[in-house]
Amino acid sequence: MSVKFEISFDKSADLAGGYAIVLKASDADLAAGAQAVDPSGQIAKAAKVAGFTAKSMSVLDIVAPADSVAERIFAIGLGKAQQLTAHDWLKAGGTAASKLKNATKVAIFVDAPGVDVGASAVADFALGMLLRGYSFDTYKTKKNDEENNGKSGDGVVKVSIITANASEAAKAFKVAQSVADGVNLARDLVNEPPNVLGPVEFAAKAKELEKLGVEVEILTEKEMQKLGMGALLGVAQGSVRPPRLAIMQWKGGKNGESPVAFIGKGVVFDTGGISIKPAAGMEDMKGDMGGAAAVTGLMHVLAARKAAVNVVGIIGLVENMPDGNAQRPGDIVTSMSGQTIEVINTDAEGRLVLCDALWYCNDRFKPKFMINLATLTGAIMVALGSVHAGLFSNDDQLSEQLTAAGLATREKLWRMPLGKEYDKMIDSKFADMKNTGGRYAGSITAAHFLKRFVQETPWAHLDIAGTAMGSPQDEINQSWGSGFGVRLLDELVRAHYES
Ligand code: MN
Ligand code: ZN
Repeated sequence: MSVKFEISFDKSADLAGGYAIVLKASDADLAAGAQAVDPSGQIAKAAKVAGFTAKSMSVLDIVAPADSVAERIFAIGLGKAQQLTAHDWLKAGGTAASKLKNATKVAIFVDAPGVDVGASAVADFALGMLLRGYSFDTYKTKKNDEENNGKSGDGVVKVSIITANASEAAKAFKVAQSVADGVNLARDLVNEPPNVLGPVEFAAKAKELEKLGVEVEILTEKEMQKLGMGALLGVAQGSVRPPRLAIMQWKGGKNGESPVAFIGKGVVFDTGGISIKPAAGMEDMKGDMGGAAAVTGLMHVLAARKAAVNVVGIIGLVENMPDGNAQRPGDIVTSMSGQTIEVINTDAEGRLVLCDALWYCNDRFKPKFMINLATLTGAIMVALGSVHAGLFSNDDQLSEQLTAAGLATREKLWRMPLGKEYDKMIDSKFADMKNTGGRYAGSITAAHFLKRFVQETPWAHLDIAGTAMGSPQDEINQSWGSGFGVRLLDELVRAHYES
């Protein structure tokens, strides 16, 4: 079941009948409030008996002492206080959240004598709680009563974070809430089953961002035909569900300043088409729209926190199905750019969708840069597993900014090479290019395919096939759809592109 945390920031706690959490550093006593929870010093005794040394993300579960008004107490270890990063605070929040499934109210003491726990650290802690609280259970008709403390429906936990900086923390938390909502939106989109979320339904979700002040246009098949998007439309033609292109604009920057642009692959389900995939694991291909989900989630964050930047988000939404009308290996399609493409393998469809979306974006918006996200190749998982997403770029500065944002958010990127030897591998006998370059260097030749549609604009391609879904669970993510990319790109914008 998912847990809804109602978070407030206070200077003192009401502990009666609730849970209490105190944070402990291994080299400093972070918990100024521990005395309120534990007047007779039982926590220190329990820690000693249990050998609890406040190692990073370790948890001590303590039976509340008789003289404590709290019902249950947890101590969470942070490791060394002076080395705490923003990500450690996220993880601490996630770790706290994992202990609260049965709680209805909790007071969390974060302040430290002699240690500066700033408002942003407290907000990061709260963000970690919100990210950990997410779970996708829309289609479970029986909620697990044991987990649910006998309550029906979703559990609500009232969380009071106790800090001297309560009002500043509350302000910083507003931004954190926007980030959590955007990440959780992306997770929802990836987790939704493919019968429910087709191209039209996904476009309607994008349209909902209008509530936040985002301008949203939805292009239909006819409009895309007029624009000459033969590559995208070729993928869509085997499905009874018509394609859509959603264009989202957030105008938070200076009037007339060129925007930054994010483009997402939104294949709502990928069977492979006529080059059909094997049956095992095909259900995971409902997540082949993870790039589009991340772009939509990011637009939500930027609009909700009123980012001072002009942004364009474009997502190409199609379904790749085998059918009497589906495209064949050997077909030659003409992209919006005018370049022709020989389709060698209909399962290499993401690049066909993206190439028209990239060209359209560049042509219409002349952006400062374009970053596209796509669950593009299995080959990137062979190279990097689910630890790093693949980063390909024609621009060193953009690449460095992205890598740094990845380290800060732990949505990590690893830069992969480009080069004309690889580019040659997608030359075609019959057309300007073909849509696969063969088995070797598969994620690199896919990147080169995209690169042929970006001209001189600074561009980066993030291959998130290994990180957008099914990646290992951690302190802040227990969901199959991870929402990868939302925090990364929000950080990029925040660090470099807001006026
Ligand atoms: Mn495919
Ligand atoms: Zn695909």
